[in-house]
Amino acid sequence: MSVLELARPEIRAMQPYSSARMEASGGKIMLNANESAWAPPGDNALGCNRYPDPQPQALLQALAALYGVRAGQILVGRGSDEAIDLLVRAFCRAGQDAIAIQPPTFGMYAVCAHVQNAAVVEVPLAADFTLDVDGVLAAVTPAVKLVFVCTPNNPTGQLVSQQQVERLAQALAGRALLVVDEAYIEFADATSMAGLIDRYDNLAVLRTLSKAWALAGARIGSLLANEEVISLLRRIMAPYPLPRPCVALALEAMLPAGQAEALAHVTLVRADRERMARALAALPGVREVLPSQANFLAVRFEDAGAVYQRLLGAGIVVRDVRRYPQLGDALRITIGTEAENERVLAVLKSPAMDGRGFADGSALGEHA
Ligand SMILES: *Cc1c(COP(=O)(O)O)cnc(C)c1O
Repeated sequence: MSVLELARPEIRAMQPYSSARMEASGGKIMLNANESAWAPPGDNALGCNRYPDPQPQALLQALAALYGVRAGQILVGRGSDEAIDLLVRAFCRAGQDAIAIQPPTFGMYAVCAHVQNAAVVEVPLAADFTLDVDGVLAAVTPAVKLVFVCTPNNPTGQLVSQQQVERLAQALAGRALLVVDEAYIEFADATSMAGLIDRYDNLAVLRTLSKAWALAGARIGSLLANEEVISLLRRIMAPYPLPRPCVALALEAMLPAGQAEALAHVTLVRADRERMARALAALPGVREVLPSQANFLAVRFEDAGAVYQRLLGAGIVVRDVRRYPQLGDALRITIGTEAENERVLAVLKSPAMDGRGFADGSALGEHA
């Protein structure tokens, strides 16, 4: 059975929009797309008066080399968020199908499912935030078309092992597409599951340039999957998703100098993550620092709300993750520059944090 049989039949049958750029080949005088003949101010030879290539070959080649897959196994979109949305739209019939997730996890899977009116089957992570493979498999009803697994998981930071991924992929063959979200894999002591997509046609991997590659503002994310899945999604994708300046930035980041810079920053973040984890764990008012393989730490506090306010008062914004199941006392703190991290520690160490907590909020704004 082809994995495409899991996709919505009307999407499989549909004729894609054929854009002017796709139909153009070999011409020099381009009068087919109602573009301006003149480049805009500040264009710097980007050619922004012309629509971009929907999936630029140079970008696909560079990403293929980076991720160790073939160009035909990549869909590049506006962040991996776009790929999540496209997957849900292509595989889930509104009002009938479902996705499966393991809370606490990244919120966009459920958001995209809700937009599509697909149900969300939740199989909570264990108390130590590891994945319950048997629990996930038991929850996969015929309605479940997509199973999202986030590794390292956001917001908890733990990994899912290759053995667990393979067990899931094997057991889900012919039943559901397994989507492994590796947004933070560059920060982890683990290798990507991308090497497995040739072995399991129902395995897809999400990668992004938003985190380790410092390009959150350029919105370049990739879905790595079987060619059939990729060409299905290309058919329903927006006609020109990748702005030329963003493509140029991505290509630049993947040149040797850019790669060296990204690697240096990842190395720094990994070292500071461990240093911060130890320093935070030693502070009064801190219950636990969850071990993290990503570029953030989930930290449990005696009074997370007060800590959040205190940091905010000092001009430091962290992520309040108390609404997530099992994280009712936690904040997620991204690893920043060394100076930024030191500032977090300094604020948390300052006198108001005296072990009795700071429930009266009297120190609010002290450092602002
Ligand atoms: C940040 C993040 C993404 C989204 O990345 P973009 O490529 O910027 O859309 C995807 N998955 C997880 C788990 C994330 O934390």
